[in-house]
Amino acid sequence: MEQYLNPDTLGKMYIDGEWREAASGKTRDIIYPYDQRKIARVTEGDVEDARQAIAAARRAFDKGDWARTPASERGALVGKLADLIERDAEELAALESWDTAKTMEESRGDMQDIAGIFRYFAGLADKDAGEVIASPIPNTTSTIVREPVGVCGQISPWNYPLLQASWKMAPALATGNTIVMKPSEDTPLTTIKVTQLAEEAGFPAGVVNLVLGAGPTVGKELAESVDVDLISFTGGIETGRKIMQAATGNMKKIAFELGGKNPNVIFADTDLELAIDYVLNGIFFHAGQVCSAGARLIVEDSLHDKLVEGVIERTKKIRLGEAFDPKTEMGPLISEKHRAKVERYIQIGKDEGAKLVLGGDRPSDPALQKGFFVNPTIFVDCDTSMRIVQEEVFGPVLTVERFHTEEEAIRLANDTTYGLSGAVWSKDQNRAHRVASAMRMGTVWINDFNIYFAQAPWGGYKQSGIGRELGAAGLEEYTEIKHVYQNY
Ligand code: NAD
Repeated sequence: MEQYLNPDTLGKMYIDGEWREAASGKTRDIIYPYDQRKIARVTEGDVEDARQAIAAARRAFDKGDWARTPASERGALVGKLADLIERDAEELAALESWDTAKTMEESRGDMQDIAGIFRYFAGLADKDAGEVIASPIPNTTSTIVREPVGVCGQISPWNYPLLQASWKMAPALATGNTIVMKPSEDTPLTTIKVTQLAEEAGFPAGVVNLVLGAGPTVGKELAESVDVDLISFTGGIETGRKIMQAATGNMKKIAFELGGKNPNVIFADTDLELAIDYVLNGIFFHAGQVCSAGARLIVEDSLHDKLVEGVIERTKKIRLGEAFDPKTEMGPLISEKHRAKVERYIQIGKDEGAKLVLGGDRPSDPALQKGFFVNPTIFVDCDTSMRIVQEEVFGPVLTVERFHTEEEAIRLANDTTYGLSGAVWSKDQNRAHRVASAMRMGTVWINDFNIYFAQAPWGGYKQSGIGRELGAAGLEEYTEIKHVYQNY
């Protein structure tokens, strides 16, 4: 770890082009969830620090230089940041694995994606040609242009710390906004490192600001401040409700990526082995701490027993372990508090009559006792009246429901307040498309799972979110549309 630390800056906030410690002098220890080892100490910002960061972003935006910088130059800076992320990808991946205990293989994949996301938005920066529309009034012209929104508060979660931050930073900077980024207090290390790289890339002072600290202090200030024009938040739905209320003071724009309870609908004509692979990948990847985790398996009655049997057999072989051991397939949960939540849900599932067929407990391996592990868990005989089916557990817990008809499959898949993503598996392409179009979700995969990329928009229907990240839609979130009308 030490080889990656830069003691001069790691652990500090970046405000107005300077690395600073919190005014209060408070710090927070960051731990490795595999064995609770302390891996870093970071400064713990407070409301006053958030105010200073917001003020710096406000000054930098109001000065106007950044928004007026030619879009191609802004794009070049965002592209340079992509290059630097690629240069330091191995270091960033290690930091992410220390912070979250996700496997190095997963973290390496994230870093590749992140560089691609910065590069994609760098490329889009100068592509907005504006629009001239036919004005209905003689001797006039109407021009439509897009402009940056202003100061953007950006709040990210702990499950994909840098990936989620990059979905916000890259489009905001490419379009000429100034930002105040607040990573999760549990996992700030890679966001600190990327802020260092943004400084190295040469963003002007005040354009990129980083505040560290807790949600209810620093995050709340970003949501409430009248000097913040847009708040972009990824996290849990209850936090989303609080931020939405806090944002009403100045009617700031909101962009929310919230939770999911994603159905994985499998018809009997699906290739069994392939389906088993993706059921496992859908729910046990990153120990189920994924907003788009395939937590609900909805399977056609005639395939049910064979599929469940196959899933159980394969799940038993999942190797739990340490992030830096290449044999590890699943790591621990992020914290003791989060494990307690997952275990509460397992008890709820049992109490409401779901049948536990695998897991539900902690591993007995002595080597894993300090980590926040829960064994991969499978419940069958589930239905949509159960909380274990309706609420986001955010852990390695799979529920299984069965269906008999296409209509029933669609009804079950949609019987949720969430609408982030889902999948349908069938060799009958017509049916797969029919079902996909009936599913009320922001993303539906056909014969695949958990695929996303910079070019395609990502976001939720219903209570899974407001607005979109990624794709052209993700760029537009960070712009205002202006109509310039001229009489001549
Ligand atoms: P969380 O809501 O607890 O915290 C997210 C962020 O919000 C953190 O930075 C936290 O400090 C901050 N926060 C907490 N209270 C706040 C407040 N009162 N005001 C302002 N900010 C506050 O979520 P989490 O546990 O870090 O992340 C898990 C959740 O994120 C899950 O529900 C998951 O589904 C969701 N998620 C969604 C997506 C998506 O793309 N839709 C992606 C990743 C994670």
